[in-house]
Amino acid sequence: MKKIVFASNNEHKIKEVKEILNNVEILTLKDIGYNEEIEETGSTFLENALIKASSISKFLKSKNLNYDVLADDSGLCCEGLNLEPGIYSARYSGVHGYTQANRDKVIANLKGKDKKAYFVSLIVLYHIDGTYDYREGKTYGKIIDEERGNTSFGYDCIFLSDDLGKTFGEATNIEKNSVSHRFRALNQIKKIIE
Ligand code: IMP
Repeated sequence: MKKIVFASNNEHKIKEVKEILNNVEILTLKDIGYNEEIEETGSTFLENALIKASSISKFLKSKNLNYDVLADDSGLCCEGLNLEPGIYSARYSGVHGYTQANRDKVIANLKGKDKKAYFVSLIVLYHIDGTYDYREGKTYGKIIDEERGNTSFGYDCIFLSDDLGKTFGEATNIEKNSVSHRFRALNQIKKIIE
């Protein structure tokens, strides 16, 4: 089976990517011994995904490992907040990965505003020769001001999915993976890999 490195330390993303891309063996950053933080200094999802993918590809080359690299940059875009938090989704409250504070800030800022929102996933498949392909997936819903279901992954529990009629926090893995932004981007990448 072909091996591809997924450039993320986010355990939720890793789990989803492994479930969706079941035609390849996914290696994690831990598997390849990469322990550094990659700073996301880009101003778009694509720029940030490319920063992650190219950094890992460079590292693999230095170890003579010939694997393609996948990177996902994703986020929540709220209509009532001029598409914020967008690329700042992981650190909207000012503290990276503080998901409770990030959700509280989105709910507070959306008081009295349009609650329509979508998740975006921009996935880059970075090849050994430095060329790359990328695909984008989106999924639509609205933000609710109470948490419903599993609170462990980002904005899942306050995102009421149009497709599922429940929050991503209430959905099973299979349900979320059948309509999610990451699934929609990865499904297109899967065809390129095949
Ligand atoms: P990054 O792509 O690592 O910069 O982080 C994206 C951030 O967007 C995550 O830390 C979450 O806060 C949020 N996010 C992206 N995808 C999802 C999802 O499927 N569910 C919930 N939150 C998500």
